[in-house]
Amino acid sequence: MSLLIKNATLASGKNADVLIEGGSISKIGAVSSRADEKIDATGKIIIPGMINTHTHAAMTLFRGIAEDMELKGWLAAVRKAEILVTPPQIRAGSDLAALEMIKSGTTCFSDMYFHMDEVAASVQDSGMRAVLGYSMVDGGNARGTRESVNEKKMGSELSIAEQFVKDWHGKAGGRITCSIPPHSIYLCSSPLIAKAAELSKKYSCVLHMHLSETRKEVFDCLEKTGARPAYYLDSLGVLSQRLVAAHAVWLTKEEVKLLASKKVSASLNPVSNMKLAGGSAAPMPEMGQSGMNISLGTDGSASNNSLSMFETMKFCALLQKNSRWNATVASAESVFSAATVGGARALGINSGEIAEGKLADLVLLDKKAANLVPAHSILANLVYSSHAGNVTDVIIDGKIVMQERKVLTMDEEKVVQRAQKEAEGLSA
Ligand SMILES: [Zn+2]
Repeated sequence: MSLLIKNATLASGKNADVLIEGGSISKIGAVSSRADEKIDATGKIIIPGMINTHTHAAMTLFRGIAEDMELKGWLAAVRKAEILVTPPQIRAGSDLAALEMIKSGTTCFSDMYFHMDEVAASVQDSGMRAVLGYSMVDGGNARGTRESVNEKKMGSELSIAEQFVKDWHGKAGGRITCSIPPHSIYLCSSPLIAKAAELSKKYSCVLHMHLSETRKEVFDCLEKTGARPAYYLDSLGVLSQRLVAAHAVWLTKEEVKLLASKKVSASLNPVSNMKLAGGSAAPMPEMGQSGMNISLGTDGSASNNSLSMFETMKFCALLQKNSRWNATVASAESVFSAATVGGARALGINSGEIAEGKLADLVLLDKKAANLVPAHSILANLVYSSHAGNVTDVIIDGKIVMQERKVLTMDEEKVVQRAQKEAEGLSA
């Protein structure tokens, strides 16, 4: 299978043809060779598909159920709804998420949740690329001074997570890879976290975890362990290139240096942090100075409430600039890079760039849309003025998944109807 994208405009402003063969980009420039399929991209911008490194896709069904609430009440409302969720609901929510992500130019996402077989089946059918893992929770004991471990619960959580890796790692023609996600230091015991790290090493897969999302999490960790979260995780042998730390907001400069030295990737979730009134911004400039790999995530739809990476890029840049009183931090270039190649690096996927040999996960946008004209800086337009509606075509793994805004892999109307119906039983 080959696909030729003719005359697309790169973010640099230059025009190029892109030839895709066997799911990868094989040639960029003036390409005259024939291909099985062709897209005329005249008047379109081409970018690498965006990579959402932290979400809970099925939470789309909770969109709007817990609004304008304090974190405590929000958590209680979301947990109450989550307890009742069934596998068919997870499937409906995941399909809805895949539809929203494709239509907003996201080609790959990293998900941690439960009933993950449903999420994997959704990824398989929708044509997306994803890194998936079963989110483990064994109660933890972050608030107490002495830890009591529920061995039985810990064992069963680890075995569900491992079985999911065995079942799905490398499936859907390689589009699905798996992760090991212990939820967080406040919902997981220390032996669970340490064993999760061993599993991620055993399977060479991503270790996906929430880290230092709130100030309370840091205070509780200090009280329990005498150490701040990054040092606590280091003592458990968890810090490595495989770890993707979601949120990574309440970190000291020393913690940033420690994480960077261990090659940990950050997944910044600025929209979720602001909506839940976390009160701070992740130390993105310090992360950049330390050479830490930075990626972006939306988090779930109960705390965002959108899966748009365009919004996430803009919020990220604006939050950083505003909180630092410095308009030069979080440049359009650095934020776009975090949404693409930074995500690919975090997840260990050979994509995120338009370059020969890279996976063909690509997105086309309407260059003539009113909000993208003039083109003094296409990069600035992408970060500050684009929206999902500008995306015209999406290619994942060399296959056209959306053409002229019509998603080819899913029945859009059915997905929406089913999600609406499945969500009706869920309320706060
Ligand atoms: Zn999350």
